[in-house]
Amino acid sequence: MQRIEEFVDERQKSWCIHCVRSLAGLKTNDDHVPSKSLLTKPRPHHLPVVTICRECNTSFSLDEQYTVTFISCVLAGSTDPERQLNASAARALADSSALRARIEQSRTEYRTIGGEMRLVWQPDIDRIQRVVVKNARGHAYFEYGEPMLDPPAHIRVLPLEAMSGSERQRFEGSHGEGSPAVWPEVGSRMMTRLATGEDLSGSWVTVQDGIYRYSVQTVGDGLQVRTVLYEYLAAEVQWEH
Ligand SMILES: [Zn+2]
Repeated sequence: MQRIEEFVDERQKSWCIHCVRSLAGLKTNDDHVPSKSLLTKPRPHHLPVVTICRECNTSFSLDEQYTVTFISCVLAGSTDPERQLNASAARALADSSALRARIEQSRTEYRTIGGEMRLVWQPDIDRIQRVVVKNARGHAYFEYGEPMLDPPAHIRVLPLEAMSGSERQRFEGSHGEGSPAVWPEVGSRMMTRLATGEDLSGSWVTVQDGIYRYSVQTVGDGLQVRTVLYEYLAAEVQWEH
């Protein structure tokens, strides 16, 4: 990815976007959005970074580990560490038999009417949603300079393949035809992206090909963040103003 400087003013920069506490006097971390653990190595350079409090930063790490490991198992069709394509998932499964057992329990095998064996996985959706919302908040803040301090009005997480054709089209497309109906503020990173096409394909910013992409758009007077993990898990998070 390319580094994009931001020129919006310094307002709101002094709060943690997750717990809304003032960062003055708190230990802070530069948190990558998306979280580094969701990506594969070698990771892209110049990942977006948001300063948040250290406590929040630490509080997400187990949920992030669960999310990336769960998706890796679904894609591999197995909880066997040897069969994972994602190295950190393989390590997490090898190191924690509790995590492996937990994901294994969420797997059901059934026979279709045609006699084929199919697998269904039932994720711990709360954990995955926490990771999705955390990253959505980071994307909104990084691209638009807008801290989303309230809980989102709407969260949806589902596999891309579970969407109908028209749903998929709506999810992949931008809300307006061509240019967005409402342009982001001058000086925001999203405005720079729209002007230069930096890492942008349609309304999507590709962080790592086939691994992570996101889109931030204004919808009505709210903001909507969509993400796709491993071209498998789609998420849509919306805030109303
Ligand atoms: Zn915090």
